[in-house]
Amino acid sequence: MRYWLPSLILVLMLPASQAVESVRDYPVEQLAPNTYIIHGPLGFPSVGNQGFMNNPGFVITTKGVVVIDPGSSLQAGRMVLRQLKTITDKPVTHVLNTHVHGDHWLGNHAIADAYPGALFYAHPLMIERAHNGVAQQWLDLMLRSTEGFTAGTVAIIPTHSTANVKELRTGGVSFRFHAPEKAHSGTDVMIEVVEESVLFLGDNVLNERIARMDDASFRGNIAACEAAIALNTRHYVPGHGRSGGIELPKAFQNYLMTLYQEVKRLYEEDLSDFEMKPQIVPLLEPFNRWVNFDDQIGRHISLAILEVEQENF
Ligand SMILES: [Zn+2]
Repeated sequence: MRYWLPSLILVLMLPASQAVESVRDYPVEQLAPNTYIIHGPLGFPSVGNQGFMNNPGFVITTKGVVVIDPGSSLQAGRMVLRQLKTITDKPVTHVLNTHVHGDHWLGNHAIADAYPGALFYAHPLMIERAHNGVAQQWLDLMLRSTEGFTAGTVAIIPTHSTANVKELRTGGVSFRFHAPEKAHSGTDVMIEVVEESVLFLGDNVLNERIARMDDASFRGNIAACEAAIALNTRHYVPGHGRSGGIELPKAFQNYLMTLYQEVKRLYEEDLSDFEMKPQIVPLLEPFNRWVNFDDQIGRHISLAILEVEQENF
């Protein structure tokens, strides 16, 4: 006993960030013949979820693997690669990021480490804003909200613009980029995997979770839902929450439209935001159990008022 006790004490003295090197495992699920998704937990980044809460995707091609949104940190990206290894030994050839919010793309670090030849793609404004401070904001936010778990993560900002290609063809699979203007973040790309009939929605559509709308436009986001519905793919992958069918963009559009139209109507009756809330909340009954509803609804009404004012200006 005397012999192992000192080494045990040494292990217990190690800081958590050194002892734990990746996010705990989440199962990978097959969505279409060559498309796989890891559905992350709902909610905002926290100590409990180790900052991991998005839906990373893999598409297996004859040349390798295309990864979509590999999570929020180096530690999340490592977990994503561990799940990928359970499916295939093929190398990652491309990484596609849906928008600038770091919970979706800071995991790029793990992919760049393991596959230095992989090509990283995103909306040109995502690339620009990430370089202009947004990457650092998200690194800080992740570190704070996980109390240091994501330490060591470096922002690997994409170098290839989706606007230049519109469609990427690799290993027999076509990835079509649909970029709705000013929707969830002003940097959004929805990715259609043509042969698989899958649409990766980014955060333009969520399922069972209410979005942060601080960088969003209600009208732009409603139009993005419309575009997603018009594509009529077999599978829809939201930025957060379970994948499903066309009912996903329809439901989220319904939430945004109901809220925005009511705010507009009540604004014309000269009501203030706190007077609007008791009238609007009952109309959103199908969504009132979605995660983050209670803490975001007041903010959504305030943001919608600002947008109505701009519209009238
Ligand atoms: Zn987002």
